[in-house]
Amino acid sequence: MKTAVSSELLRKLPSVDELVRRPELASLSAAHGHAPVTEAARIVLAGVRQELSSGRLDARGLELVLSGIAGAVARQLRRSLSFSLRSVINATGVILHTNLGRAPLAETAIDHIRETATRYSNLEFQLDAGTRGKRDVHVDRLFHRLLADEASSGSGPADISTIVVNNNAAAVLLALNTMAEGGEVIVSRGELVEIGGSFRIPDVMVKSGALLREVGTTNRTRIGDYEKAINDRTRLLLRVHRSNFEITGFTEQVSAADLAALGRARGLPVMEDLGSGALVDLGSFGISGEPGVLDSLRDGVEVVTYSGDKLLGGPQAGLISGRADLVARMRANSLFRALRVDKLVYAALEATLLGYVKREHNAIPALRMMSLSQDEIGKRAEAVEKKLNAVSGKQLAASRSAPKLKVEVVDGESVIGGGAAPSSVLPTRLLAITCQGLSADELASRLRVSDPPVVARVDQGRLLLDLRTVFENQDESIVAALEKIAA
Ligand SMILES: *Cc1c(COP(=O)(O)O)cnc(C)c1O
Repeated sequence: MKTAVSSELLRKLPSVDELVRRPELASLSAAHGHAPVTEAARIVLAGVRQELSSGRLDARGLELVLSGIAGAVARQLRRSLSFSLRSVINATGVILHTNLGRAPLAETAIDHIRETATRYSNLEFQLDAGTRGKRDVHVDRLFHRLLADEASSGSGPADISTIVVNNNAAAVLLALNTMAEGGEVIVSRGELVEIGGSFRIPDVMVKSGALLREVGTTNRTRIGDYEKAINDRTRLLLRVHRSNFEITGFTEQVSAADLAALGRARGLPVMEDLGSGALVDLGSFGISGEPGVLDSLRDGVEVVTYSGDKLLGGPQAGLISGRADLVARMRANSLFRALRVDKLVYAALEATLLGYVKREHNAIPALRMMSLSQDEIGKRAEAVEKKLNAVSGKQLAASRSAPKLKVEVVDGESVIGGGAAPSSVLPTRLLAITCQGLSADELASRLRVSDPPVVARVDQGRLLLDLRTVFENQDESIVAALEKIAA
């Protein structure tokens, strides 16, 4: 009988046209145009119809909804005319959270983008000569400063250059296509990785036109396995960083240095896909086992590929650093033209790299977050705890009911994320929160729809907030969001 009742109620709904012609909505049509208001009305009416047919809305509920329906259309219109891509507060403690945009950019990067991208720039123009220039020069000079001198102090290439493409996946594709199209690339079976978002080494290999030659086993590959596989069709020896997993137990992996030595002896280039590609020594942050770009080059690897928005802390980009003649061939490949990046990325990258050159590492948010001590984070967490307890206390006095929020500061761990240093965690202090009447998942979902949205972790029935990844001036917004939920 529910269907009969709901179909009777359905008849009480105005048509889209009737609704849009209401005087309350006429001014919106005048301001924003007829089409978007009609669209908003259609969405709102469809929502009500859905509620009625599912039986969630009865006659009285419908009356209430109808009395506020013009307001609902106005709200829907506001939503559809506002940004979908928004700033969120990352309280997960995952520094390079791929779903949350990986590395936040340095202020200097944003300033440089604004300065150069809202006007004309010398992107591809040599001011002294008045002739056409290359966009790479702006960052190549800085990579050179950061990599060349030191790399050549080991067994690294004497002359290093760097080019920029859209992301590391593109960097690997371009490098493989340039160095090995039509030939074979030797890779260990233990390094045939998949990185989130469908980057798989065997698939990229196929697209590059090179043939994958697997050697060794999942857990053990020795230098002799590579040696035996080398033949006249071999073009490249590839090493891939196990960014997001570990193999433990009875294992053996050939070091970058040994593979580089084999390549030199047999006249074959050696490439390493590093993934994260740190430009500073991460040991100083307490992170081990994550090879830096310099480590790889010093070990004699001739081409390294890495991301701009992982441990480097810059914009999304793929970087290829290595032996100048090999990089020059990649630059000349027509694929490079298809994969190159725009002036915004060059501006952000140049400013980020300049931060490294000037040793202003704290200006790069991802590095600053890694360097925060457990103590500093704990102090901020305690300040938030204190404010929230004060709120609960006020509620207690006012309503004589038990406080709704229960807040504690406990030890925990932050992670690097972004497929970097899978086993490295940084000690942190967490806000552990429960809210009477709400499950931890419900509390987390309320926080996600707060303004600004707050993304947290849920563990064992508690909501966990890690302030390591929260910008200090956002602590207050977290307090406000929780206050509002508890009220
Ligand atoms: C992250 C990663 C990639 C993919 O990099 P994107 O910049 O996301 O394209 C490729 N290889 C390794 C080893 C990685 O860690």
